[in-house]
Amino acid sequence: MVEPKSRCKAADCTEAHTKHYCKICKSSDSNHKARNCPQGINLYHGTKVSVISKIISEGLNPSTSGRIGPGIYFANLDTAMHVANSRGQGTGTVVVRCRVNASKCKTGHHPKWEGVTPTSFDEWCLQDSTSYRITGILLVNGVIDGDINMPGGDIVISGVCTFRGNITAGNIDGWGGGNF
Ligand SMILES: [Zn+2]
Ligand SMILES: [Zn+2]
Repeated sequence: MVEPKSRCKAADCTEAHTKHYCKICKSSDSNHKARNCPQGINLYHGTKVSVISKIISEGLNPSTSGRIGPGIYFANLDTAMHVANSRGQGTGTVVVRCRVNASKCKTGHHPKWEGVTPTSFDEWCLQDSTSYRITGILLVNGVIDGDINMPGGDIVISGVCTFRGNITAGNIDGWGGGNF
């Protein structure tokens, strides 16, 4: 006879624990995973592909200074892709999709970034750098050195990507454009 395992209230969670901590709303006995937190919104961070393994293992690096102060900067998908293209310089890009507690962000409207974005854009600066969770990455070309361990996360691939490390994800899919 097998005793039913006592488990957390998050229906789609497969972890062996009794309580689920949500990083977004800080509930210690959450009924949802952070990626579905109703207090969060999806925001994006674009950069070069060579840093993605480090980002997945250590998190996004807060800027010490920025237009609206120190913190982790996010934008919408379209803007993040432009920023990624600029930072990638033809070496491959990544857009990191995060669930972010927007109430912990400063927001602003950035003027057109010359040579990077075609227009002005909205920006979010997360000052409490723990109130987000990486939920997926969009890789466009390039060589992915190092491991990427994101069980439950989405990896979406566009173009030609070469993986040299161990990859773990909830879903791995091609990108047909549009939403991510
Ligand atoms: Zn759980
Ligand atoms: Zn939550």
